[in-house]
Amino acid sequence: MTAANPDCLFCKILAGEIPAEIVYESDTAIAFRDINPQAPTHVVVIPRKHIATINDVTPDDEAVVGSLYSAAGAIAVAEGFADEGYRVVMNCNAAAGQTVFHIHLHLLGGRTLTWPPG
Ligand code: AMP
Ligand code: ZN
Repeated sequence: MTAANPDCLFCKILAGEIPAEIVYESDTAIAFRDINPQAPTHVVVIPRKHIATINDVTPDDEAVVGSLYSAAGAIAVAEGFADEGYRVVMNCNAAAGQTVFHIHLHLLGGRTLTWPPG
């Protein structure tokens, strides 16, 4: 399969062109371990559809974006910290530190997380 957006790192992971440790797959989303983990568990949850930023999400995408959260919840159960607690965050554009322009939830768990984030 060819990446939907050939310039997009996460489309290349979806297409199997770049390896990743995939921990979850559904019709609308996949999740894989972050290459630079910021917590004992740091998983990136992405839609199969290429959407560059939150600013590009339309009402037609609501089911897909919602599926990222059900994925995150299922992964938290599988990782064993659903009851203890965890964080899910999505960065948008430069000021928030977005570096890959294919929307993704960061799922962080396995340690105590401070608030507010930096
Ligand atoms: P953001 O900075 O919010 O756009 O998040 C992008 C995330 O993707 C960062 O946490 C990176 O560590 C992660 N990342 C970049 N390249 C890869 C890769 N090849 N496999 C897994 N995670 C990656
Ligand atoms: Zn993409």
